[in-house]
Amino acid sequence: MIVSHDIQKVRDIIRQQKNRGKTIGFVPTMGALHKGHTSLIRRSAEENDYTVISIFVNPLQFGPNEDFNHYPRTPDEDIEKAKAFHTDLIFHPSAREILGTNMLTFVNIEKLQDNLCGRKRPGHFRGVCTIVTKLFNIITPHRAYFGQKDIQQLFIIKKMVQDLNFSIEIIACPIVREKDGLAISSRNVYLSNEERKDAAVLNQALKQAVKKIEKGETSASVIIDHIKNIIQQKASAKIDYVSIVDKDMKDVHKIKKGDVIALAVYIGKTRLIDNHIVGDRITF
Ligand code: AMP
Repeated sequence: MIVSHDIQKVRDIIRQQKNRGKTIGFVPTMGALHKGHTSLIRRSAEENDYTVISIFVNPLQFGPNEDFNHYPRTPDEDIEKAKAFHTDLIFHPSAREILGTNMLTFVNIEKLQDNLCGRKRPGHFRGVCTIVTKLFNIITPHRAYFGQKDIQQLFIIKKMVQDLNFSIEIIACPIVREKDGLAISSRNVYLSNEERKDAAVLNQALKQAVKKIEKGETSASVIIDHIKNIIQQKASAKIDYVSIVDKDMKDVHKIKKGDVIALAVYIGKTRLIDNHIVGDRITF
């Protein structure tokens, strides 16, 4: 496995692999690798000849009062984990390498970012789309792997790839969870023992909502209220949003298959997200 900080070197290696007829799978990450990330890496290694992962804590996607400075950075452990899951190349650029000193061009997606995390974190998806575009241009993968955990990001990247004519297949990968249902996240390390127990309520509330929908409930407001009531029973929880949206990320009144129940909740100071796709099947 090769680890490189250098754009030109990475381009050269990938060109060589493509010249040999190899397919390239790509997994963009911010590092602090966990079982969610390794599920994406494993899938890429299964479906491609050569797997590249990037590790870059992207400053453009953090707001001024967010956790960029404290975000967990574990490069040595990441290298070991990536190796164990058959990564061929880790691209681990510095901010200067990837952002340069005077960037004036940014990628901004309209409408899909106006709700959910995009609404709560202004500029977040502009930062994501800009860096993912740069990474796509550097790596030029055949396939790129994204987790359903960041469901709005997944829909946005899928649309961006269509709109900008990237010749890349976007593969959606299921959410990997802890035993109690908590979606695995690099941010879970921020939680105290007590908070960690409370954090399971996000998925518990989603599961209760799914039960109600399976029994025939179609009103979004009834389901949203039900979820909020469950979450609010935990002392450490503060709801950022609970929404049910269609594939255009627009709030729905009547729930149908393919809609997304999405939520963001502060557990103490840690903002966690989770979601469920009604009918369990993603429809872009
Ligand atoms: P991040 O490092 O948080 O930017 O995540 C990198 C990629 O891993 C994104 O496509 C995430 O959606 C995905 N990911 C993060 N956590 C999970 C999880 N628990 N299950 C599946 N995918 C995940």
